[in-house]
This record gives sequence, C-alpha cells and structure tokens, in this order.
Amino acid sequence: MSRAKTEDLFGLIKSISYPNNKTKHLIGMARKVLSDFDGKIPMTVEQLMTLPGVGRKTANVITSVVEKQPNMAVDTHVFRVSRRIGLVSQKATTPLAVEKELVKNIPEELVHKAHHWLILHGRYICTARNPKCRECGLQAACLYFQREQ
Ligand code: SF4
Repeated sequence: MSRAKTEDLFGLIKSISYPNNKTKHLIGMARKVLSDFDGKIPMTVEQLMTLPGVGRKTANVITSVVEKQPNMAVDTHVFRVSRRIGLVSQKATTPLAVEKELVKNIPEELVHKAHHWLILHGRYICTARNPKCRECGLQAACLYFQREQ
C-alpha cells in the first residue's frame, strides 16, 4: 500500500464514505508504518495516533479488538448510552471525559468487551430517539428510566 498510486487505491475503496481522504490517509499511514515502525502496526494508542487518519477512537478500537487492551472507544452510541444509564456523571460532556470515566468505573478485564455491549445496546435497544425501555433489561439500573417513571 505504501507504493500504491492514489488512483489505484481509490478505485478499490471508492464505494465507502469519503474515499478521497481515506485514500490519502491509507497511503500516508502505510508509508509511516514502514518508515517509523519497521513495517509493523504499532499497538499503543499514542503511537497509532501519529499515523495519518488515525484518531483516538480508531486507536482505541484497534488496541482493544486486536490485543484486548483496556481501552474504550467512545462513538455516538457509547457516549449517549453511558450518560443516559448513569455509567458516567453528567459532568462528562466530551467523548474523552466519557472514555476516562468508563475506564475508571468498569473492571479492567471487561473494558474491551463493554465497548461492544454499549454499541450494540445503543444501536438496537437504547436508540437515540424512542429508546425501547419496555423491553430493556437494564431498567432497574438505569437513571433515565428511574427519572422518566
Ligand atoms: S431503560 Fe431505556 S433509557 Fe435505560 S438503558 Fe434501557 S432503553 Fe436505555
């Protein structure tokens, strides 16, 4: 990939969102992995974030999925659900603040799994509009549910 031409890679990924930017980032990422990390994908959040196109959320996903590191990627579902249920305080108003509170509050060995639990719960049950509280198994623990009753 580090030797790929822009037009070659673009042709392969053009059906996804933002293909222009992603093509540029992928080639830049591959070049930096070669030059700075001996051709191996680094496995710390800080090192990953030095690669083009890799932000904190992506770095947390990679390290937690590949190596089960206790890192929490906070996407829109994780952010919303954590605050609604009361897994984090209402003072946590940014993804980074939510990430830090979740990592502090969840047992270390469960953090990499909890990321998926929160995403799936947010996608299918605790949806942004009209959460399905009636069929939710978390009623007893959920601050939002207690408040709305
Ligand atoms: S009870 Fe409702 S608000 Fe609370 S977690 Fe379940 S779906 Fe979400």
